[in-house]
Amino acid sequence: MTHHDHDRGDGHPILELRRVSRHFGSFRALDEVSLTVRAGARQAIIGPNGAGKSTLFGLISGTLPATAGAVLLDGRDVTRLPVHRRVGLGVAATFQHSRLFLRESVLENVLLALLRRPGGGLGGLRKIAARPKTLAQAHALLDQVGLPSRHEAPAAELSHGERRQLEVAVALATDPRLLLLDEPAAGMSPAETARLTALLAALPDEVTVLLVEHDLDMVFELADTVTVMHLGRHLMTGAPDEVRASAAVQSAYLGTAEVSS
Ligand code: ADP
Ligand code: MG
Repeated sequence: MTHHDHDRGDGHPILELRRVSRHFGSFRALDEVSLTVRAGARQAIIGPNGAGKSTLFGLISGTLPATAGAVLLDGRDVTRLPVHRRVGLGVAATFQHSRLFLRESVLENVLLALLRRPGGGLGGLRKIAARPKTLAQAHALLDQVGLPSRHEAPAAELSHGERRQLEVAVALATDPRLLLLDEPAAGMSPAETARLTALLAALPDEVTVLLVEHDLDMVFELADTVTVMHLGRHLMTGAPDEVRASAAVQSAYLGTAEVSS
């Protein structure tokens, strides 16, 4: 038993998916998936490649419209709301394929994210960068994710792992209540993964974390709830131990990964 076993995800449902589907032509990337995420949860979504995990995140963040079904945030139907409105409601995402501004500096990437934050003001980057409080906030976020140096380097010069850390800083800059992380440890060294895991574990309960991750050691260290998807369908959601013990999960993973540690 670990310190993650206390009832962290015991709050109200911050996110509810009601039979959401996403079709690409006749192909059902998501097929009537229903899922509840409670406020404060550290919930992981696992499943083989092509299971529909990234597509599901697209429906939650708003980058991808649902073909059918409903997405509710705090009980409010946001199915048709565009991305920026959902960001305003506290949804932040990092993507499987990076969306950093590679020619801008590490610091500027975080400042740009702070600028879009409600109350961040409408001034340009120079104006906001000149505000000592905002600048200090940006540096603090970079420290928090483990990028205490290289703030002036273009994001393009960062290692793969460092870019993922910067993406987390950019997501946190919008002050999210629901943080979506799509394979944040992909391409990270074991040391970088350990640091990221510690950072996510240390986030306050006010930040609910929904994480897609292939690194099952990270999943089982961090998550209080695990959802398994397979071929566009929801297979099961349960406590980590239940999921590990499930025969259905074992068979979905057969030949792709082991659900054990
Ligand atoms: P995962 O993230 O679990 O690996 P994805 O959500 O990326 O899976 O993809 C689920 C399925 O949907 C895959 O078979 C993928 O090829 C398909 N898919 C995803 N995006 C598109 C798209 N834009 N057009 C057609 N098929 C897509
Ligand atoms: Mg994916």
